[in-house]
Formats: sequence, C-alpha cells, structure tokens
Amino acid sequence: MKKALTLILMLLMLCGASAFADVFTIVTDKEFRPFEYTDEHGDLTGIDVDILAAVAADQGFSYILRPVGFANSIVACQSGEADGMMAGVSITDDRKESGWIFSDGYFEASQAAAVKADAAIDNFEDLEGTQVAVKIGTRGAEYARELKEQYGFTTVFFEDSPSMYVAVIGGECAACFDDAPILDNYIEKSGMPMKLVEGTENECQPYGLAVFSADQQNLLDQFNKGLANIKANGKYDAIIAKYITP
Ligand code: GLN
Repeated sequence: MKKALTLILMLLMLCGASAFADVFTIVTDKEFRPFEYTDEHGDLTGIDVDILAAVAADQGFSYILRPVGFANSIVACQSGEADGMMAGVSITDDRKESGWIFSDGYFEASQAAAVKADAAIDNFEDLEGTQVAVKIGTRGAEYARELKEQYGFTTVFFEDSPSMYVAVIGGECAACFDDAPILDNYIEKSGMPMKLVEGTENECQPYGLAVFSADQQNLLDQFNKGLANIKANGKYDAIIAKYITP
C-alpha cells in the first residue's frame, strides 16, 4: 500500500513538473564573436545569448544554455541531450533535407575565406597547393569542400573558430573559411592580423535556432513568436546595435 502511494506521488510529481514550465536545454558554440563568447567577467554573452534571453522572457520559458562547440551541439541535439541549438546556425536546404528543423531567421550571414594580413593571396586560385582550415560541421567547411578540387587545396578540420585563426596566423594553414561577420568582428574589434579575401563570399543565408526532432515544435513555436515580438518592440534592434557597429 505504502509502495503504491509512493509511486502515485512520484508520478504526480513528474507530471506536475512537466506541466508547470518548459525548461529547454539549448547548446551553442564556444567562441563565435559577436554571437557567443565569454566576456572579461567570464560570462557567456553575445547576440545569440541576448536574443535567446529576450525571447524566453517574452514567452515565459526557462532554459539552460551550454557552450559546447558547434559540432558537439549537433551531436547533443541529435542524441536528445539538448532540445535545440542557437549557434549562428545557417538555414540551408541541405540541412533541411537531412532533418534539421529551423526557426524563422534572425540574421543574414555569408561565409568567406580569410588569410594572414600580409599574405599574398588574392583569390581562390592562390590557394592552390595550400592547407585550408575549416570548422567541423559548418557551412564554411561545406563551402570549402565544394571548392577544394577545383582550386587544388586540402582542408584541415578544427573544432572552433579561434583554433582556425591560430593555424592561419601561425602559418600552419594558408586560409580559413568562416562566417564573414565573425571574421570582421575578430579583425576589427580584436585587431586579429588577418584579412578577408575579396570576392570569396558565398550567398548570405539566415541564422536560425535549429532542432532535430518534430517533438521540439513547441520550442520552435515559442521562439518564433518571441522573435516576432522582440523585432516589433525594438529589443531585437537594440541587441544587434549593442554588438555590431554599422
Ligand atoms: N553559420 C555557420 C554554420 O551554420 C557557422 C556556425 C558556427 O560556426 N557557429 O555552419
């Protein structure tokens, strides 16, 4: 009898917990300025971090945000450890076809090649015979894969953007492929001794929150509603203006 009561109590508690409020686990990249990075106080900050906070406040959901890296974020979502991924994720048809499900877009970005500031590399042709740094699982890596045969370069895989930049600045790689707004930020704001190679940008695509199961529709719906609200009430513009100087 006592056992049965305990069981009923436990079931009630479990149902109760899920009925109260949604607590989503969201994963993100580690260092992807200005979308997610650790500031001088050790706090995770950036456009993704602030948009998620503003959307959650608007919709009244709670979340835990974990900066695990880009490829690790994909794995965490696919294995069900995380509910969604907010990491400057480009919305592409290829990804949609392979089962990624996206929110509405919240920022447009392209990918480009970047080289050391004093490198004599002016176009894709100049990459012949070189090693190019790419980040695992990214659209930049996919872009490099599409070009490498034609231009005769090889790719080396890294887990995060700063490691790619170190490889380029240190001379291990001649170039890297990354998102243009991120390269701009590291070059302009942190004085990173690199430059974008003109004419290497691909087509802009929007960033969206990504989930990997139709069961996460609730998260997407709340995100989309909240995003529309913060776009309408000026919060979205204020977040962008805080991190990106026009
Ligand atoms: N926007 C790129 C992509 O989705 C890179 C994202 C990232 O490196 N965090 O692949």
